[in-house]
Amino acid sequence: MFILSEDSQRTQGRDAQSSNIMAGKAVAESVRTTLGPRGMDKMLVSSSGDVVITNDGATILNKMDIEHPAAQMIVEVAETQEDEVGDGTTTAAVLAGNLLGEAEDLLDQDVHATTIVEGYHEAARIALEAIDEQVVGSDVDDDVLKQVAESSMTGKGTGGLTAEALAETVVSAIRHVDGEDGVARDNVNVHTEVGASSNATEMIEGIVVDEEPAHDEMPTTVEDADISILDVELGVRTGDVDAEYSIESIDQLNTALDAEESELRGYAQTVADSGVDVLFTTDSVDDRVASFLANEDVLVFDDLNNTDARKIASATGAARVGALDDLADSEFGHADRIRTESYGGEDLVFVEGGAAAEAVTIFVRGGTDHVVDELERTIGDALDVVATALDSGEVVPGAGATEIAIADRVRSEAAGVEGRKQLAVTAFADALDIVPRTLAANTGQDPIDVLVDLRAAHESEGRAGLITDGESVEIADPIEHGVVDPADVKREAIESATEAATMIARIDDVIAAE
Ligand code: ADP
Ligand code: MG
Repeated sequence: MFILSEDSQRTQGRDAQSSNIMAGKAVAESVRTTLGPRGMDKMLVSSSGDVVITNDGATILNKMDIEHPAAQMIVEVAETQEDEVGDGTTTAAVLAGNLLGEAEDLLDQDVHATTIVEGYHEAARIALEAIDEQVVGSDVDDDVLKQVAESSMTGKGTGGLTAEALAETVVSAIRHVDGEDGVARDNVNVHTEVGASSNATEMIEGIVVDEEPAHDEMPTTVEDADISILDVELGVRTGDVDAEYSIESIDQLNTALDAEESELRGYAQTVADSGVDVLFTTDSVDDRVASFLANEDVLVFDDLNNTDARKIASATGAARVGALDDLADSEFGHADRIRTESYGGEDLVFVEGGAAAEAVTIFVRGGTDHVVDELERTIGDALDVVATALDSGEVVPGAGATEIAIADRVRSEAAGVEGRKQLAVTAFADALDIVPRTLAANTGQDPIDVLVDLRAAHESEGRAGLITDGESVEIADPIEHGVVDPADVKREAIESATEAATMIARIDDVIAAE
C-alpha cells in the first residue's frame, strides 16, 4: 500500500540522521575559518554577479544559497543570534555544528537520540550557570564598553580606521541614546557614503537625510535654526474645474500674471514673516517662491519623502503643519545647526543638536562600496554588543576563556549524571572546545597543544584565553588584555546552538515531496 506519492523521497533511521547531521556540520564548517581576530574573509558572488566581502557569520550564511532543510536550521541559529544579541553568529553556528558532530559519534556508539537530547539539555543548563560565574565585576563603564566594542571588531574590516577609534565612536553613540528606559538602540542611525577615506567616519549628534535645497542661492548652513515641516503646496492654486481664460490684450495678460505673482509672493511673505529659518515641505514649492525665500535667507527643502519628514519631526520636535496660516513659532522645532553638503553630486542635509535630538548618526565614509558595506556591518555588530552589554551590565572574558571554563564545569558535573546521558553531557563539553580550538587554528597554532595549555592555565590561574594582540599570540587573562564579550552573547549562542542540534538529532525520518 502506498500512502506517499510516487515522486516523494523518503530517508529513514540512521541514514536520515546521518545526512542531516552531515549537512548541518558542513554549514558550520563553512564559517569556521572566519572566527576570531585572525579569521579570514569570504567573498560571496551572487548569481547576478554582486560581490560581498565579509567576515560576518550571519551575512555569509544568509548570502549562501542553502537548500538542505537541516543546513537551513544552522543558518537560522546564526539569524536568531544576530536578531537577539547582534554578535556571536559564527560562534553559535560553529558550536551547533560541533554538537552535531559529537551527537553523530554517540549515535554510532548506540546511544539513543532521546538520551543525547536529554544530555545536551542538561549540559546547556550547567553551561548557563557556568556563564553566570564568569561574569566579571559589576561596573560596566566606558572603558569596558570600548573593550566590548573592540573585541567584536577584531578580524573585521574597519577600513583604514583603528578599532580603537571606531570603538570610541560606537560607545559615545550608544551612551547618547542611553536613557532611563535603557538603550534606545533604534535611535542610532548609520549612514554610509562612499568617497572619502574611512578616517572621515564621524558621529553626528542628529540625523542625516538625503534632500536637496529648493534653490541654489539658499544658505548652506543655518545656525540655531527654527524649523517647520509643512504639508502644503506653495504654488499657484489650480482650480478643480478646468477654467479657461480668454485674454484679449497685453494688459489683461499682465494683470493675470501680476495676480499670480502676488499670490506666490503672499505665500513667500507668510513664510518669511513667520520667522522660520528652515522649512521642510512634503509638497512642491514653486521656483518663484523658492527664489523669493532665498532672498530672505530662508532655507527650504521641498518634496520631502515621508520617512525623512518623520525623522526630522522627531529629531527637532517640529510639529507637522497642515495649513500655511498655521505656521507659527509655537509649532517650530529646533536644531543647533542645519547644513547641506554635497557628496558625489548628491546633497545631504545634516540636522544637528535638535531640541529633541535623541538620535545620533554614525556617518561612515570609505573608499569603495565594499569597504563601506563591511564597515557598516562591523559598526552594526559593535553597536549591538555595546547596547547588550550596557543593558544587562554583564560581560565575560573572551578569547575562548569562557568556553574553557564552561567546558570544565560541564565535564566535572557530568560525573553526577546517571546512565548514558552522562556520555552526552561530556560530549557537550567536548563540543565547546571548538571555540578555543578554532581560535588557535585560525592563528596558525596547533589546536591540541593550545587546548592542553589553556586547560592547564585555567586550572592554575583561573582565567585563560588565547589572546591575539597585533602579531603576538599568547595565553593570558583576557580581562587584563581587554578582550571581553557580553554575557548575553555567550548565553544566546549556547541556547540557540543546543536547540538546533537537538532538533536535528531527533529527526529520524525525512519525507520530501518532489
Ligand atoms: P562571532 O561571529 O562569533 O562574533 P568573531 O569572528 O567576531 O565571531 O569572533 C569572536 C571571538 O573572537 C570571541 O570569542 C572573542 O572573544 C574573540 N576575540 C575577540 N578579540 C580577540 C583577541 N584580541 N584575541 C583573541 N580572541 C579574541
Ligand atoms: Mg563577532
